[in-house]
Amino acid sequence: MSVHRLALFTRTMDVVFLAGVVDPQRRNYRPFATYQLSWYLRQHGYESQVVNFIHQAPEKLIREALAKYITPKTKILGLGLMTHPKDQQATIKKVESILYWAKKTYPHVKIVAGGPLTSFLVRHYRNKMLFDYIFYGHAENTLLELCDHLWRGGDHPKVTSIQGNDVIDENAADPKKIRFNIEQSRFEWHDSDHIQEGETLPLELGRGCVFACRFCSYPYIGKKVNDFNRSMDCIENELRRNYDKWKITNYYMLDDTINASHERNVEFYKMTQRLPFKIQFAGYCRMDLLAKRPDSEMMLFESGLRGVYFGLETFNQDAADLIKKGWNARNAKQFLPKLHHEIWKKRVGVQCGLIAGLPPQGFEELKETNRWMIDHEINHWQWHRLGINREKNSLFTSEFDRNAESYGFDWYVDNGQLYWKTQYATQRDAENWVSQLVAEATPHFKYACWNLMEIVQYQLELPVMVNVVRASDPFRNKISLRRRDFLTNYWSQLLGRKVTNFDFQ
Ligand code: SF4
Repeated sequence: MSVHRLALFTRTMDVVFLAGVVDPQRRNYRPFATYQLSWYLRQHGYESQVVNFIHQAPEKLIREALAKYITPKTKILGLGLMTHPKDQQATIKKVESILYWAKKTYPHVKIVAGGPLTSFLVRHYRNKMLFDYIFYGHAENTLLELCDHLWRGGDHPKVTSIQGNDVIDENAADPKKIRFNIEQSRFEWHDSDHIQEGETLPLELGRGCVFACRFCSYPYIGKKVNDFNRSMDCIENELRRNYDKWKITNYYMLDDTINASHERNVEFYKMTQRLPFKIQFAGYCRMDLLAKRPDSEMMLFESGLRGVYFGLETFNQDAADLIKKGWNARNAKQFLPKLHHEIWKKRVGVQCGLIAGLPPQGFEELKETNRWMIDHEINHWQWHRLGINREKNSLFTSEFDRNAESYGFDWYVDNGQLYWKTQYATQRDAENWVSQLVAEATPHFKYACWNLMEIVQYQLELPVMVNVVRASDPFRNKISLRRRDFLTNYWSQLLGRKVTNFDFQ
């Protein structure tokens, strides 16, 4: 579609969202939540526009987009950023500057935020210095309540004051007005989202996780296996529509454990075999469930699984028992190489998550794990320092956050900050270990899971890319040029004018 034609479609927006990823690798990834909320508000008669990839764009382009979409009719400017601010302060600073500018330029607009950064935002921007409202948790119901209040004279949603900010918690949604139901969510991408032909899109399969690992603070952990899963009919419709409109076949599956239910795996497999096209996707999987149902290993592959993230965490039995992932320590060293090399034949980009700082592991043992990953040609592994959150105001907390002392964690203060310690390590040790382990591992990393699905949207062959070592990637320049083309196309369509490389300088 030409830029000129798109300019004719400019609508007057009630709500405008800014979205991006705080990501050192600067991927072209669409965080899903703002699109979901936009779609939901449209279902209820509000006009909404997402301005995405703000982590990739200079401030002047983002301001131009806001000037285009914010009108006297607009009442809400929402921010949805993914992942943790520690990863990239520059993006946070840029967003802060834009929002302060927007606050001054558009005083009639309420500035709101949600997503995984909310605890950080509540803490760093106290007393409503930047945000009029901060949303905790899934916000379909609560944001709609706020819109209905601002436009249609409905009741004000229930607000809690935290650090001087007005926080609207999903649990405080008015029970009489709760309308969103994930099981029947018929989410659709909108023309104004400017989907690029063949791009990799996020697709929500369900919410929550049936497990409850002790370090995990994801929402809705410990749910029942059939809770909060989208119906297969809704998923199939979304896949078909995306293909018909934009030739989309690549996906990031949004679900904490895509293989939580064997029945659902079978249903999903059957659905993919009915489609007149093949899909490829990445998602979070549990190894123990694959081992329990060996027929699911190839069934998932045949369904299109080409990138997988295993939360392996540790090979140490005591540490694994402590976090409630004992199976991994007992079995993963036999299971994973067999799955990766013999069953999937290195056609799936396998990524593992590992934790540094779990007692009783020390640095030498973690270095052995690094060596094991290298020797067994795992595509990618991600080291995390064990995190224990002492914030009283967090909506979602882990068992460790709530009861750290009963698992052997103690505390010390450094530079006014509180850190955990055990007899084996301090939080600072674990941080230093992670830096050293990542430095040692990086030359061996290949594309895997989310990264793999991101680069295949640039017309690169997945079966080739899955075995490319990133440090010596012969396609690196091509990827970088195509990432730039993707962005210039997106921003051109969004702004209704031809954006060039010059605009990105
Ligand atoms: S770590 Fe993974 S498997 Fe464990 S509770 Fe969290 S999402 Fe579920």
